[in-house]
Amino acid sequence: MNLLGRLIRMWRPYRVRSHPLSREEIIGRCGHVTGTYRELGLVSPFSTYRKVVDALIANTSIEVRPMNRLMAPAGKDKAVVALRHDLDGDVVTGVRSARYLASKGLPGSFYLLHTAHYYGTVENNVFRRFAGLESFVAEFVATGCELGLHTDPLSLYCTHRIDGAEAVRTEIAWLRSLGANLSGTVAHNSAIVFGAENFEIFRRRGIGNRRRFSCQGQNVPLQALDEQKLGLTYEGNYPVLPDALDPDKVAAYMDLSKGDCVRDPEWLRYYFLENPFFGRAYDVDIWLLARDAWVIAKRGGDGGVRWPVNTEDLLLYLGRLDEGVRAVVCIHPEYVSGD
Ligand SMILES: [Zn+2]
Repeated sequence: MNLLGRLIRMWRPYRVRSHPLSREEIIGRCGHVTGTYRELGLVSPFSTYRKVVDALIANTSIEVRPMNRLMAPAGKDKAVVALRHDLDGDVVTGVRSARYLASKGLPGSFYLLHTAHYYGTVENNVFRRFAGLESFVAEFVATGCELGLHTDPLSLYCTHRIDGAEAVRTEIAWLRSLGANLSGTVAHNSAIVFGAENFEIFRRRGIGNRRRFSCQGQNVPLQALDEQKLGLTYEGNYPVLPDALDPDKVAAYMDLSKGDCVRDPEWLRYYFLENPFFGRAYDVDIWLLARDAWVIAKRGGDGGVRWPVNTEDLLLYLGRLDEGVRAVVCIHPEYVSGD
């Protein structure tokens, strides 16, 4: 048996059973998450989301595309914007967002997190998928949005010693069985959590071509899945990998990665522009990270990080995007879960 085979044998197989948790209970869980965000003062009203969508529609020099077409050639005189929704915490506002986009005829991309509190739970080394989730998947599919998987194989490997690659393969197949026209994934979390990026589970996406890494004393396999064989055409971070990890840069980045770092301008600069683990092939990242507060990170010569930017200023920025620029607006729906 080859080394990869031996490594895989170290892991518990990914087994799935249903769990009776209902749709109503999932709604309650999402409400609990959004309540916590609200108490922290991080939540914007849903009208903030509508405002951004409406401005994109009104701007004739912007072409809004699903994430799976982000890198296709840009039309003449057009900037390209994709709406990426990472469904980490609030699938209820996720569906609300997908419905709003559908009502306006705009494409959007939504990524279900297979380790999220609304999706399932590990019990006695078996993954138990919540029965109530299926109705949410059906609602996303009905809107015609792009639906993908927010991948988190590393948490299954590192936290539960379960075969995380098989989890990704199984959940993609399950979403397709419910009618999702799934062609891509985006990695959840970042290397600051376990020491590798979740997209490294795919062939040719190992940083420095590494095929394993050490997590909590375990040798975790990377590059275990072939995107082509899984019918996947893209990874939504569009990662550009360094030839090798620079230990000094990694140490500096890890040093900054503490506490509420996602709202620290210095960390944001590292994460988006000087990330030692990967760069991105498109030009601009725009993420909503607090109440009426966006980060804009632009790569290239005139680039830099702006934080916090309010929604009015974001709309001015979008209105001035240069021809040929590709920007990804990333929303975690819990941030727009206000009334
Ligand atoms: Zn995430």
